[in-house]
Amino acid sequence: MLVRVIDPGRGERAGRLTRRPDGTMALEEADRAPGNLCVGPGWVDLHAHVYDGMTSLGVPPDRVGLDTGVHVVADAGSAGQATLDGLAKYVVPAAEVGVRAWVNIGSTGLVDLRETADPRSVDVDATLAAIERHRGLVCGVKVRSSGAIVGGMGLQPLQLGRLVAREAGLPLLVHIGEAPPLIEDVLDLLDAGDVITHCYHGKIGRPWRKDGTPAPALARALDRGVLLDVGHGAASFSFDVATAAVAAGFPPHSISTDVHIRNIGGPVHDLATTVTKLLMCGMPLAEAVASVSTTPRGVLRLPGPWLSAAGAVQHATVFRLAGTDRTYQDATGTRRTAERLVVPVATVVDGRFRPCPAGPGR
Ligand SMILES: [Zn+2]
Repeated sequence: MLVRVIDPGRGERAGRLTRRPDGTMALEEADRAPGNLCVGPGWVDLHAHVYDGMTSLGVPPDRVGLDTGVHVVADAGSAGQATLDGLAKYVVPAAEVGVRAWVNIGSTGLVDLRETADPRSVDVDATLAAIERHRGLVCGVKVRSSGAIVGGMGLQPLQLGRLVAREAGLPLLVHIGEAPPLIEDVLDLLDAGDVITHCYHGKIGRPWRKDGTPAPALARALDRGVLLDVGHGAASFSFDVATAAVAAGFPPHSISTDVHIRNIGGPVHDLATTVTKLLMCGMPLAEAVASVSTTPRGVLRLPGPWLSAAGAVQHATVFRLAGTDRTYQDATGTRRTAERLVVPVATVVDGRFRPCPAGPGR
């Protein structure tokens, strides 16, 4: 099939996807590309909730996996040190999609949705021990640093999460939201490679000016190499905030869903829908592709290029850009009409072509 190849860092070109005699896929050069069928590296969702059966939020990983174009999901803190063994033992081996985990600094993870409101809920030594037991699974440390969650603990969960992350040599994934703690104090604790999720939330205390430029503490964090992650969720994505930031030159480094049981039926649905929304906010397609593939793959330290020098496809997501007049809702209740939407068509996993079934919402 003729495809538009979107190769982050190398630009766009025309290509032809072919099946070799051994059944694996190859990408050859072509003279012309179709307008709407695209291929790029395999997608990664850097923020999802897939601890099905343990937390009330979890969705089965394969519901948000290869059928939706996603090769790897990173569970964002559903498990803490006390519940990580169960994720590794029961959820990861049963899933076809790749799973990584940001371990929550709160010991029970999201079994209790005020997971760090009490000093007894954080155990630094036990969290480090759990990370060592599951080095291949754990990609970093998750801290939800907003008022409704930390209660009187203020900055302590983040300070302790940072202590663990630096000791383990891993990044932090920090949920931002309403104060306290103050966003300036949160952002000043983040280092290069740490990730701010819910970066375009529309709540009071967000780290953006009205013109879309970052407030001083966010500007300093971005200068240090801190990354912006979308983490759409049920309450954490504003079309207005994202559109202004993209226009001012601050697109997200990664597009993720924060998909869980209470938003998979809307407004989140899946990663393709979240990518569609970032295109609606003015993000160029090539940047959007990089932010669901190359960049989150780097954060997760996933090995391997998607294409070999000889044109063998190691991993890829094939998707269609379809014209539409469908309306989409952000997490603030604002609705906007899209002109084009992203529809996953297939994945290539270890060289093998795997079609995506057409699902609801697509
Ligand atoms: Zn989340």
